[in-house]
Amino acid sequence: MNEQNIITNSWDKKHISCNVCRSVEAVMVDPDRWDKYITGGLVQDVWPEATPAYREQIIGLRSGYHVCNDCWHSVGWESDEEEE
Ligand SMILES: [Zn+2]
Repeated sequence: MNEQNIITNSWDKKHISCNVCRSVEAVMVDPDRWDKYITGGLVQDVWPEATPAYREQIIGLRSGYHVCNDCWHSVGWESDEEEE
């Protein structure tokens, strides 16, 4: 069997809207990982290599609450992305 890149194989396209500006973003999600996540997996365990921004989108998909990058910056909320 060929080993396929689990990141690019069988993506599901989901949509998430920003609670502030209402803009809609498309988020590509691996359905296998999504299953793990919604059945109790932690986002950092299911997507250990994902960026903080991507994890935010995933969390938003599940919780229904999401703020896009532009709005994060415009309201001046801190994110943990630059933690050292
Ligand atoms: Zn926004």
